[in-house]
Amino acid sequence: MGLKEVVLAGPRGFCAGVERAIEIVEEALEVVGAPIYVRKEIVHNRHVVDALGAKGAIFVDELDEVPPGATVVFSAHGVAPEVRERSRGRGLRVIDATCPLVTKVHLEAIRYARAGYTIILVGHEDHDEVIGTMGEAPNRIHVISSPEEVEQLELPDPDKVAYLTQTTLSVDDTRAVIDALRQRFPQIVGPSRDDICYATQNRQAAVKTVAGEVDVVLVIGAANSSNANRLREVSETTGSRAYLINEIKEIKPSWFENATRVGITAGASTPEFLVHEAVEALRRMGAVSVREVNVVDENVRFGLPRELEEIAQELGRPLPARVPPAW
Ligand code: SF4
Repeated sequence: MGLKEVVLAGPRGFCAGVERAIEIVEEALEVVGAPIYVRKEIVHNRHVVDALGAKGAIFVDELDEVPPGATVVFSAHGVAPEVRERSRGRGLRVIDATCPLVTKVHLEAIRYARAGYTIILVGHEDHDEVIGTMGEAPNRIHVISSPEEVEQLELPDPDKVAYLTQTTLSVDDTRAVIDALRQRFPQIVGPSRDDICYATQNRQAAVKTVAGEVDVVLVIGAANSSNANRLREVSETTGSRAYLINEIKEIKPSWFENATRVGITAGASTPEFLVHEAVEALRRMGAVSVREVNVVDENVRFGLPRELEEIAQELGRPLPARVPPAW
């Protein structure tokens, strides 16, 4: 007995929305210069936030902490329209790093609200993304997160209901909620393609495959990262033990007693260097081989927001070449 093998789930780690958000802050720092203000954590990972902070980004909770006339970046999770209005009122220069797949959900909310639908948003009501989407039609959106809540919904017109979902939910759990919604509101409509994003789906599919082959799964990610928490839950559905860690020093050797194989995955906002550190820690505990199980190749890349180009032109500075975050 004893640790023998580490199995890496692929894809894992940074998604296209997170890479883009980090690149936006880095490019803004080059074009405008420090400080660049960022409303909320640009992505839910302390290592990323600290690294950008060291380069001159200042993270704030709300816009009144940003001096008038300064440049502010909105995080990948998106913002409510009211935040955009306040930024205009304060004369701020805004660069929007909202992931295009989150923007898609906002646009769906606007479309359904304009057409007179009551919207059921499946998600976690305290998450930044859900708060932003809610802001598009606060009087028309109800947030739920479980099938049990479907029964308690009291809606003005049960025949005019639409559903949307947060992008980082568990695929299986969300299907159960949508099934319950369909049963209670047979006329319900939803987006033609699922709102759970490609990165969330791929990372969950990969960790499910790996979790079935190992005794323990390590999910590397922040405690406030929705998609990292879902990776831990998905791993546990296969019967494996799973632990969410943000730092390698949180690893406890007792987790691997009687274990021969350990799986590793990382949330969409987790830098890859933490995966390397975890592999090295497990090697020191006796693992002799490392294998990767890749369930799908990803080649998604999003364009940068046009504000960045406009600011570069206004300041007469060239936009630096795009470089994927080197973590
Ligand atoms: S997890 Fe999905 S929705 Fe969120 S930033 Fe990444 S690609 Fe965009």
